[in-house]
Amino acid sequence: MQHLGSFFRQTIKRNFKRIYLPSRAADHTHTQLLAFRLGYKTTSTSHKAQHQHNLYKHTTVTMSFPISKTDAEWKSSLSAQEYDVIRNKGTEAPGTGEYNKLYPKADEGHFACRACKNPIYSATAKFDSGCGWPAFDKCYEGSITTEIDQTMGLKRIEIMCSQCGGHLGHVFEGEKFTDTNERHCVNSVSIKFVKGKPAEEKAEVKVA
Ligand SMILES: [Zn+2]
Repeated sequence: MQHLGSFFRQTIKRNFKRIYLPSRAADHTHTQLLAFRLGYKTTSTSHKAQHQHNLYKHTTVTMSFPISKTDAEWKSSLSAQEYDVIRNKGTEAPGTGEYNKLYPKADEGHFACRACKNPIYSATAKFDSGCGWPAFDKCYEGSITTEIDQTMGLKRIEIMCSQCGGHLGHVFEGEKFTDTNERHCVNSVSIKFVKGKPAEEKAEVKVA
C-alpha cells in the first residue's frame, strides 16, 4: 500500500502542475524547480532544479557596502570593461590582464580596488599560478567580502571589495600552490597597482 504522505504529495504535485501551470505544463524542468522550491524532493532533474534555484537566488541577493553609488554613477566612473567585470561580475579573457605577469618587489607598492582604492593585496601576496589571471595567496585583513557563487553549474567562492562590493574574482582552496593553500584568482581590471604601502599598516590573512 502506498504511504499516505507520499500519495498526497504526488496528488498535490499533479494538481499544482495541472491547475496552476497550464501554459508551462510541458516545461518539466520548470515544474521540477517549483516543486523543489515548495520543498518537495525531486528525482530525475533534482540537480538541475537545485542549480536553477541557486541561479535564481544568486541574482536576487542584494548586499550593501560602505561605498554606495547608483548604477549610473558606477558606469560614468569606470571604463566599459571595468564596469562589466567590477559591477556585472564579468571575467576578463585569460592571459590578457595588465597584471597577469607583473611581480613587483615587496617595497614597490600594493594592489588596491580599482573602483574605490581600498588596499587589498600586498606585492608579496602575488604569485604565478599559471592560470592566466593574477593570483594572490592572502589579502589585507578586512579588505574582502566573500559570497558563495553557484552560477555556471559550479560552486565557487566569489571575492568582492569589502568597501564598494566590486567583483574581484574567486578564491580557491587546497591547491597547494603556497603555504596559505589559497589562490585568489583576480581580474587585473578589478585592481590597480599603487606605489608605496597602504596608509594604514594592515595584517595579511586568508579569507576562505
Ligand atoms: Zn572597492
